[in-house]
Amino acid sequence: MSRKLVLLNEAQVERVKDIARACSLDVETSTIEDLHSADPLIECVNCSSPNERFFMRWPQAVCHVSHHVLVINSFGKETENIVAQEPTLPNLRFACCSYCHCGSDGFRGSLRSHLITVHKDVVNVDQLPTLNGDGDYRNLLNPRLFNRKDWYWNPCFALDKLGLVWRYTPSPSEPSAVEATSRLL
Ligand SMILES: [Zn+2]
Ligand SMILES: [Zn+2]
Repeated sequence: MSRKLVLLNEAQVERVKDIARACSLDVETSTIEDLHSADPLIECVNCSSPNERFFMRWPQAVCHVSHHVLVINSFGKETENIVAQEPTLPNLRFACCSYCHCGSDGFRGSLRSHLITVHKDVVNVDQLPTLNGDGDYRNLLNPRLFNRKDWYWNPCFALDKLGLVWRYTPSPSEPSAVEATSRLL
């Protein structure tokens, strides 16, 4: 694979290291692909309120306000609900095919059909995401639902373009971790 160059300032480098450590990655030897594969879920404490919490992935976290405090990958059972509210729509156009390295121009917005048409000898077609019920195509636009070995983020795009930050509204029936803890005391 070709070398990928990412330009970061000093504060951003420190933040990448913090995030890598939180993912149990070795900061000396890990690659950007290791971080993409770990794909940690990150909350900004400063931008969150109890009713509306602010989440992002590591590329957005690196570009986020440098003095804001981040919580990484420690959301317990709530993780699934938080991820369910993650926006997916624009992301596939920032992905490349791992086999022929074409970007989304090459697979014309449908990584699934590209993989089936061009790479069916190396791809496990049965494991590719399919349409949701009612013909909902959003599954096919979310690269995270594809096998990580089939694609990578296009290094030509700025890091913060590789996804969107999102606001998560906890459902009233699920007390936040803080409330649950204080009730136990
Ligand atoms: Zn923030
Ligand atoms: Zn390809």
